[in-house]
Amino acid sequence: MPKKNIIIIGSGVAGLATALRLSHAGYQVRVFESNNHVGGKMSEIRHDGYRFDTGPSLFTMPQLIDELIAMGDDCSSSFFEYLKIDITCRYFFNDGVILNAYSDTDKFVQEVSLKTKTENWVIIKYLKYIEFVYKATSKIFIEKSLHKLSTYLSFTTFKSFLKIPFLSIFKTMDQTNRTRLGNDKLIKIFNRYATYNGSNPFVAPGILSVIAHLELNKGVFLPKKGMRSIVNCLYDICLKKGVEFNLNSQVDKISLNNNKVNGIYIKDIFFPADIVISNIDIHYVYTKLLDKPIYFTQKKNIERSTSAIIFYWGIKKRFNQLDLHNILFTKNYAKEFDEINNFHAIQNDPTIYINITSKHLPEDAPKNCENWFVMINVSHDKGQNWKLLVQKAREQIITKINHLLNTDIESFIDYENYMDPTQIESKTGAFQGALYGSSSNKRMSAFLRHPNFSNKIQNLYFCGGTVHPGGGIPLALNSAKIVANEIISNEK
Ligand SMILES: Cc1cc2nc3c(=O)[nH]c(=O)nc-3n(C[C@H](O)[C@H](O)[C@H](O)COP(=O)(O)OP(=O)(O)OC[C@H]3O[C@@H](n4cnc5c(N)ncnc54)[C@H](O)[C@@H]3O)c2cc1C
Repeated sequence: MPKKNIIIIGSGVAGLATALRLSHAGYQVRVFESNNHVGGKMSEIRHDGYRFDTGPSLFTMPQLIDELIAMGDDCSSSFFEYLKIDITCRYFFNDGVILNAYSDTDKFVQEVSLKTKTENWVIIKYLKYIEFVYKATSKIFIEKSLHKLSTYLSFTTFKSFLKIPFLSIFKTMDQTNRTRLGNDKLIKIFNRYATYNGSNPFVAPGILSVIAHLELNKGVFLPKKGMRSIVNCLYDICLKKGVEFNLNSQVDKISLNNNKVNGIYIKDIFFPADIVISNIDIHYVYTKLLDKPIYFTQKKNIERSTSAIIFYWGIKKRFNQLDLHNILFTKNYAKEFDEINNFHAIQNDPTIYINITSKHLPEDAPKNCENWFVMINVSHDKGQNWKLLVQKAREQIITKINHLLNTDIESFIDYENYMDPTQIESKTGAFQGALYGSSSNKRMSAFLRHPNFSNKIQNLYFCGGTVHPGGGIPLALNSAKIVANEIISNEK
């Protein structure tokens, strides 16, 4: 029997990974992308010798990409190589303390004990705890659909449920870290992992501490040609496998016949398909591409994740105090999250993230210069005056950098560009500019994310950062795996 023909709407990293997996399994796959390029949030800017990744900068779990590359031909792997990074992040505190989070556990424990006066066993025990949480949850919360009975009937799930009392589901992340770590600097470091999926550590459940495991126990990596090379490589393999890409092709409608998909429409042109997979923000599937809001009853009110203001600065100087990933902490983290979540304004003293890939990849900036990606977390778009807020953010950021690095950073800005939540929305289709779809601030968030398939419409599937298992490259890649496996196994 000939394999079904599949249409994928959107070419974000999960759309590309799904296309690759299904073309590898012999399906005929067509991708429709509204932009004139693939990759969605994983885009880049090149200007006068500077190169900037505009979206993700942190790369963990590279084995998920290796797995996809292995589906390509033998030379695919030479396109994509990556380095393991020694210092996963350099933290700057207001009192002048600088702490390096080394990827080597012994070095990290020594650094923590020296800089925070915490006893070694406290941090070792914490690292073991987050590893335990990861092992107890990853099989069901990350690698499987939470919306299939078979997941709950497995022995792995049964074992995971027995561990629930130890997974800090009923405490906030801040409470969990306060109890287990005690030291304010360490609590700040480990609370920050909530921002990796756009959540607030003062309300999000402690189980999210698991995110730190991926970075501190498993490692941080950097693609040798930058983050953008991840999508370039997947795109290349897809082309070789015969996936058809239609760029500048905004899908306007998913076409149904008796609650079963039969294709898509771009304006009034119909493209038939047996299966449609959406890789776009789930909000727009229901508000724009489907006639009836079939699922949007209780779920539409789930809080969106945070967004960001990002400056891309070409800096005509090298700053040895900075590393690849740097965090300049606010003095009062609780106040910062309160300002983001409740006032939707720019914080008075924001935590600043600076990513400089030219530290490891010299070709990303001209000689003696650096490519700075400078980001603060902000609320998703609620109609704020972003022009004004960006101006205010720029002032706050420059003041803080000048103070911590004892410099006049503005005088070294050689090139400047920026993105605010409205631009994130217009460039990548993220509703309200939320980086990770819905937030994980609620205890049941994992179960409230949209499933990877539709219960009401046959042959309609969903992948990407706004559906199960969640936002960020590793989870988006897992969504692709769940969807592809589901389609392939249904065919058998
Ligand atoms: C500034 C920023 C920083 C981030 N930092 C990190 C990080 O450090 N590490 C990490 O792991 N993750 C990070 N993320 C999150 C990560 O980028 C996303 O979770 C991931 O890239 C989402 O991929 P996706 O497959 O959901 O598709 P998306 O990237 O959301 O792409 C969706 C695609 O669908 C297209 N589209 C939308 N509507 C239509 C339509 N109607 N028809 C056709 N095409 C359509 C869009 O143009 C887009 O190309 C960051 C995100 C941002 C924005």
